[in-house]
Formats: sequence, structure tokens, C-alpha cells
Amino acid sequence: MSSQFWKPGTEKPRILEDEEGGVIFLSNSLSSSSSEKQRQRLPVYKYRNAILYLVESHGTTIIVGETGCGKSTQIPQYLIEAGWGHGGRLIGCTQPRRLAVQAVASRVAQEMGVQLGEEVGYTIRFEDVTKPDVTVLKFLTDGVLLREMMDDPLLTKYSVIMVDEAHERSISTDILLGLLKKIQRRRPELRLIIASATIEAKSMSDFFRVRKKRREPENEDSQLQLEPAILSVEGRSFNVQINYAEEPVQDYVQAVVSTVLSIHEKESTGDVLVFLTGQDDIDAAIHLLNEEVQNNGKRSSGLVLLPLYSGLPRAEQELVFSPTPRGKRKVVVSTNIAETSLTLEGIVYVVDSGFSKQRFYNPVSDIENLVVAPISRASARQRAGRAGRVRPGKCYRLYTEEYFLNQMPNDGIPEIQRSNLVSCVIQLKALGIDNILGFDWPASPSPEAMIRALEVLYSLGVLDDDAKLTSPIGFQVAEVPLDPMIAKMIIASNQFGCSEEIITIAAVLSIQSIWISGRGIQKESDEAKLRFAAAEGDHVTFLNVYKGFLQSSKSSQWCHKNYVNYQAMRKVIEVRQQLKRIAHRIGIVLKSCESDMQAVRKAVTAGFFANACSLEP
Ligand code: ADP
Ligand code: MG
Repeated sequence: MSSQFWKPGTEKPRILEDEEGGVIFLSNSLSSSSSEKQRQRLPVYKYRNAILYLVESHGTTIIVGETGCGKSTQIPQYLIEAGWGHGGRLIGCTQPRRLAVQAVASRVAQEMGVQLGEEVGYTIRFEDVTKPDVTVLKFLTDGVLLREMMDDPLLTKYSVIMVDEAHERSISTDILLGLLKKIQRRRPELRLIIASATIEAKSMSDFFRVRKKRREPENEDSQLQLEPAILSVEGRSFNVQINYAEEPVQDYVQAVVSTVLSIHEKESTGDVLVFLTGQDDIDAAIHLLNEEVQNNGKRSSGLVLLPLYSGLPRAEQELVFSPTPRGKRKVVVSTNIAETSLTLEGIVYVVDSGFSKQRFYNPVSDIENLVVAPISRASARQRAGRAGRVRPGKCYRLYTEEYFLNQMPNDGIPEIQRSNLVSCVIQLKALGIDNILGFDWPASPSPEAMIRALEVLYSLGVLDDDAKLTSPIGFQVAEVPLDPMIAKMIIASNQFGCSEEIITIAAVLSIQSIWISGRGIQKESDEAKLRFAAAEGDHVTFLNVYKGFLQSSKSSQWCHKNYVNYQAMRKVIEVRQQLKRIAHRIGIVLKSCESDMQAVRKAVTAGFFANACSLEP
């Protein structure tokens, strides 16, 4: 790794490698024969038969391969070609992120020349794009697959389940791995593929190794190897020159802007991928870059600026994957979703802020926050790797080399060890797993967080004295794919006659934010919020916004005028429809309390009482 120091805005670093062979291959919608050729060029193609052989002969196959080598889009297609989808069986492929589920599913449908939602479909929370008896390959979030287990604990519809992005160690992935291991004991014919960009393959393999000491049920399929197989896909990637900031960076949004402009000015063609943390700083960076384009056209002409984060509307997501127009330079400003979940073609330069949004939970204060925190060295390497896919590339790290070497944590902490476990506990309980502390976790959660979760669920009336789900409340809460506190609020609304209102509130709470925010418009958007503000607090404010939106006949102009996010409101309407169906299923009568906000507040408190406090004079 080169240890050249470089400061954003200063002279560009020495070029260490030649830039021969820098052909950028960009294509999106190709005829089927060239799409076939493109598929065969992917590194994973050479392993096609080996993979199919291992899956045939082993219960669990662990596949490790560089991002972009074809794991997510190709392996499921090989499985279809080999017949794992025949006879009404289903191939499932899980992703930790919703956006990745949609993007990968639509890419695979395109490569196969089928309509998305037919042979190839996807399911994410509140959105099911599959067709029973037609869909043979289904992409889904690991959370959705956990939910499916409530109706079908052994996942009998599936012949193969590929758990993708296992290295991310999301909380749902970890729960899923533990449960799949259990299912496999009962259903040895179920094949598992664990796919990952950087796994410590050995520890995964140890986890899935079937212990000999215990008496296992007789394995009928005697050909089947119980020992997990590990296959490592040799990728091809080019050298990436690493440049560090000379001094610690004060404002990484500003540093991103000047770095992008300096790349654009001084470097040869090739797209740029910027890693920031979330919608706010991504929008801010794009806003500043756009200003630059407007005020100083020369310096920035030819820049195509694109955000990439999970709340992004579908049409904008597609732009990110579309080929860069000739003579232009695409700059994708992304969350860490582009770290390993999505492959963008044509990236030659990476700008790494060194941060991402991460969940942190403190069981003592019972507060869970999504905070901007430093990434690990493993993540930093992944990010840099994105620059070397098509030709030698460069990565600009907005932190010092000293920091990278001596202060950055080596690996991330699995999410399960830094999360609130309330949802996780209730799901396991609903699946009949009573001894949660004794559950076979890939990484054990902290006992404090576990106890705290049990306490909260007990006080919500979801668990009884024996820590079993109560009937009906416990089972009802488990049915609702939302935070148990929100679920409890919905169930309580039945008794207070305000389910219509509460379902609206629940829908809004399940959306990231219904407001338009960003640098430079803070004042205006705060003023707009005041127009809806209610003395009773945010929940009633949400109701006012929703009412206004309906009265405007769901107008986008109305949203614009009031600093309300139109896409978010459409999503609220959609989620609300789904919640109505779920409410109906668990026996809640839809009823409006009209303007009786007292009823609404009672229902909200029934769910969120744990967040209450009293002011002492
Ligand atoms: P992996 O899962 O191993 O990271 P993928 O299967 O996601 O890799 O991607 C394999 C290749 O398919 C990528 O290198 C890229 O060339 C291409 N690809 C994937 N998704 C898209 C897309 N939405 N648009 C264009 N090309 C894509
Ligand atoms: Mg992938």
C-alpha cells in the first residue's frame, strides 16, 4: 500500500501506475447474447460447476469472493439452471438491505429476460413482488425471511437459501444463521449458501460444523456432507493507490466537495464513488457540489451528481446504474450500501470519509441511537477496493495514515452486540425458541441487553411470568412487523377507538422522515413544521400533516410548499394500507376517534410508556 500523503485541494499525488487497459465497460440493457457473454466474463463463472457440485454434495457451502465477482446475481441463476427451482421449489437469496434486494432482483430479471415479479421476484417489508407458483427465485431481506418462519418454521418451500453479505453481520443475518442451522438438523435436504465478501470463512465454517459428539438424527441422504465446504473465488482487481489526508479533516462534507472537484480537475476519465454516512450529509454534499457547478461552471462542467441511499425513489436508484454519458464524469455519493452490497460499474476514484451510520445501544439507559461513527479498517479496505474494478484506481481517504494504522478499529462489532434486542427476542419467542440465552448465536449478544429486552417485553404485557408469549397480546404484537412498542400502540388503539389515527402514526414512524431537510433550508423547514405543530406533540403533528396531504388530494406541490417529502408521504399511504390489512388480521376494528386526541394519546402511551418520565419541580 502506498503511503503517500495528500491533502484535499493541494497538488495531485504522483501517479504510481500506468493506466493502460483502462477500458470502461458500461452497459445496462444489452441484447441477450451479449448479456450472456458479459455473464461469462465474471470471475464467478469459472467456478460455476464447482459451486453446483458443492451445493449438491454439502449441506452448507461458504462462498467468499470480492465484491462484484458475481455472487449475488450469478449464483442464484446457476441454481435455477441446475434445477433447484423445479417442482414448485423456491430458491431464496437474502440481503441485509432493502435497496440491495430490489436492485439485485431487477438486475437478475433483466439478465434472464423476464419480467420482475414473475420467475424472479422480491419481498421486502411492506412490498411483495412475487407470484405464487411462478416465482422460482426470490430475493428478500433477512428480516422478511425471519417473518416467513412464523408461518412456515422449517421454510419448506425453499430448496436452497443463500444468505448473502454475511460479513456485514447484521442483526437479522445473525439470527437467521442461528435458525437456519437449527432447521438444517430437521431438514438436511435444505441447502445453505453463505456468501460474503470478506468473511472470516473459518469462523463461519466452525459455526456450521455439525458437532459429532451429539447424536444427530440419521442422515438419510448419505451422500450429503455435513462438513461445510468453503470456496474462494479468485477475483481480478487492479492496484488501488491510497492517498491519505495530511491532517485530520474538520468538516468531511466540505472535504468531500473539494476532493471531488480536485479529482475532476486533475485526473483522467473515470467515475467517482464517495462514501458518506446518510441522506443528510449526502444531500448536503450534492447541494454544495451543485452550487459549484452553477457558480463556477468551468471547474465542474461535465459532472453528473447522483445520491445513493436507502430512502431514494426507485427512478433515482436506476440512474446510479445507468451508463455515464460520453464526456461526463459520474459522481455517486453513497452510504455504505455501495461498500459491498451494490456494484457500480466504471468507478475509478473512491473518496472515503471514514465514517458510517451505525447503531449503538446502551442497555443501562435503554437508549438506541443511529450515530455517525468511524468505520473499521476492514470497511476502509472494502471501500478502497471499489476503485480497482475496471482498471487501476485511486482512493482518497479523508483521514490520516497514522489514524488508519493506529486508531481505526480492525473489525466492526456484529450488530447484535450493539442493538436493542426487543424485536429479536419477540421473534425468537414467536418461533418457539424459549431458551434465548442458550440460543446458538454466531456471536452472543450481551446478557445486559438481553435482560433489558425481557424486562421491556414483560412490562408491555407481551411476555408472562415464565417469559412465554402472552395470548392474545404477545402473539398479536409478534404478528406486526414493527417495533413491539409501535405494535402495542396499534393493539391498544382498538380499546380506545382510534385505530385509524394510530395506524397513520405507526406508518409515519416506520418511514425515515416525512420532512425535507438539508443545509440551507433549516429555517424554512422549521417554520413549515410549526404550521402543523400540535401541543400534544409529534404524533399528533404527524396526523395534521397526513390530513393536510389528503386534503390537498395528495398533491406534490402542497408537499413542496410545506417542506414535506412527497415520496415519503406516498410511502406512508402505502404502508398504511398494509398495516390496515395486518390490523384486520389480528382482529382490530378500524375506527376513527375524530378529534378526540385524548384517545390517541392514551394509545400512544400504552405502547411507549417506557419512554415516559415525570418532571419534578
Ligand atoms: P457480488 O455479489 O459478487 O458483489 P454482483 O453479482 O452483485 O457481485 O455483480 C456482478 C457484476 O454484475 C458486477 O460486477 C457488475 O458488472 C454487474 N452488475 C450487477 N448489478 C448491476 C446493475 N444493476 N447494473 C449494471 N451492472 C450490474
Ligand atoms: Mg453481492
